Amino acid sequence: MRLLQQKILQEGKVLSDSVLKVDSFLNHQVDPILMKEIGKEFANRFKEVPVTKILTIESSGIAPSVMAGLYMDVPVIFARKRKSLTLTENLLTSSVYSFTKNESNEISVSNNFLQENDHVLIIDDFLANGEAAQGLINIVKQAGANVSGIGIVIEKAFQDGGEKLRLQGYKVESLARIQSLANKQVTFIREREE
Ligand code: 5GP
Repeated sequence: MRLLQQKILQEGKVLSDSVLKVDSFLNHQVDPILMKEIGKEFANRFKEVPVTKILTIESSGIAPSVMAGLYMDVPVIFARKRKSLTLTENLLTSSVYSFTKNESNEISVSNNFLQENDHVLIIDDFLANGEAAQGLINIVKQAGANVSGIGIVIEKAFQDGGEKLRLQGYKVESLARIQSLANKQVTFIREREE
């Protein structure tokens, strides 16, 4: 997605060979116009598969997911990373190791919002080693629901999460695929349609 690539080039900060900071439009401040385009693009890329719910993880997955939910006309659920006072019963949980924080979090979703007949599109801001996506897949499976696909805003294709998920047979659509962050430079994988 060209608009997203331009934004990454203009505002992204390469913190190391493996970490990209995009807090001016996705991870702290949010650019609603860009999020709207991202939502439209996800809706377009998954228009051929059945989707009844979107599942993401707080907090940076929420903005792109809500925009996709708006275009796809489906509800959006976000997995919580911390225990909530009000979310205590009927929990589906999974342990997720965080690449950026170097710690494991228990993520949880109420089973009131995921049913066996749901077709779930998983969306997240970044894909690195695939831990977050795998945790969300795990939660969908616990509910007995079906994973329709995985939508990622920024995939770091030099890490193996994307490959692992595609090898499991999931339709993974990433709006920007980064080949390398070496030498403080962002290089994208050339996409066919661009
Ligand atoms: P994974 O679970 O695929 O290993 O890592 C994805 C998760 O880690 C995302 O939810 C995202 O929050 C975080 N993450 C991984 N790599 C980066 C990165 O380079 N930059 C930012 N901002 N977040 C990242």
